[in-house]
Amino acid sequence: ALTTGIVGLPNVGKSTLFNAITRAGAESANYPFCTIDPNVGVVDVRDERMDQLAAMVNPQRVVPTSFQFTDIAGLVKGASKGEGLGNQFLSHIREVDAIIHVVRCFDDENIVHVSGEVNPLEDMETINLELVLSDLETVERRLDRIARQKRSGDKDAAAEHGILEKLHGALTEGHPARSVDLDEDERKRVSSLNLLTLKRMLYAANVSEDDVADADANPHVIALKKQAQVEGAEVVTISAQLEAEIVELEGEERELFLEELGLQSSGLDRLVAAAYRLLGLATYFTAGEKEVRAWTIRQGMRAPQAAGVIHSDFERGFIRAEVVGYNDLMEAGSMAGAREKGFLRSEGKEYVVNDGDVILFRFNV
Ligand code: GDP
Repeated sequence: ALTTGIVGLPNVGKSTLFNAITRAGAESANYPFCTIDPNVGVVDVRDERMDQLAAMVNPQRVVPTSFQFTDIAGLVKGASKGEGLGNQFLSHIREVDAIIHVVRCFDDENIVHVSGEVNPLEDMETINLELVLSDLETVERRLDRIARQKRSGDKDAAAEHGILEKLHGALTEGHPARSVDLDEDERKRVSSLNLLTLKRMLYAANVSEDDVADADANPHVIALKKQAQVEGAEVVTISAQLEAEIVELEGEERELFLEELGLQSSGLDRLVAAAYRLLGLATYFTAGEKEVRAWTIRQGMRAPQAAGVIHSDFERGFIRAEVVGYNDLMEAGSMAGAREKGFLRSEGKEYVVNDGDVILFRFNV
């Protein structure tokens, strides 16, 4: 499963957020690894469409899809030089698919800020710089190693060398590797380096519970958003402390609480949605009398690979997929109705699954 790492300076609210995540926890038998690794938290992905499907089909059970977070505590200034947990910390970031950078935007005199005052821009820069410095070291080591191969006429080495030089230029100026325009082939050639600043990233602005309804008026958030826009990064505003309370509630109670706060959805749900976008993920559904279930795929996946998310046998034995779009199905009111209206399509191996497709797979065993 894809995982998103939560990073940030000390005292910005990472543990508070991560605690909310583990408490929201899809604490089910489906995720045994959750209990093995205390730094991994898995949450159910809330999806209004799944609830509507369930209301239509009336299945025995409803199973949401899930999303995984990893808590990566311990990033401090100087980490790339081995300060704090230093390199150990950086190696944990290497293993995640995307990064959520929590930035403190709440004022609280009682909670010390590591650099003396709440200053999101400085925090962003501090963390980004540590990651850039770590990548710079990685790239320089690699450049040294392949310089000789390049001189001896190795074509692959020469190609890689060229890309590394481009990356080196950006990193030296303090820019992340993702700011360098690389095509797919170039990306592949440097993928084994697992560069930290090549990973996709978004910011979570942690605001105080009083600010959450009108977070965009918070000057820290305004400053953060401005800088994030320059970087092309998304910002999700969240109040970590409040999330811990929200995850304890369900159903009507939960809706009322959110309404009182002036929120459409919880910060955690917005964070999951943003991470989905960041990673290019999509959801499709299976809907039978036994079970209505949501499944996560990468956008652009073809029907057999999407079937493989359920079981590898489904991918191997794939024959075809009977597909109806979520909106079409809702309009028709039932599977039978969708069939009558001609909304139900029979798709083959080349079909690219859409977000919201409701699918029945036909396969050989
Ligand atoms: P970490 O070091 O980044 O993991 O930060 P913690 O989650 O331990 O939070 C540091 C302190 O800030 C704790 O005392 C939290 O209770 C407090 N804190 C975290 N989030 C919020 C928030 O949204 N509002 C306020 N007022 N305090 C918060």
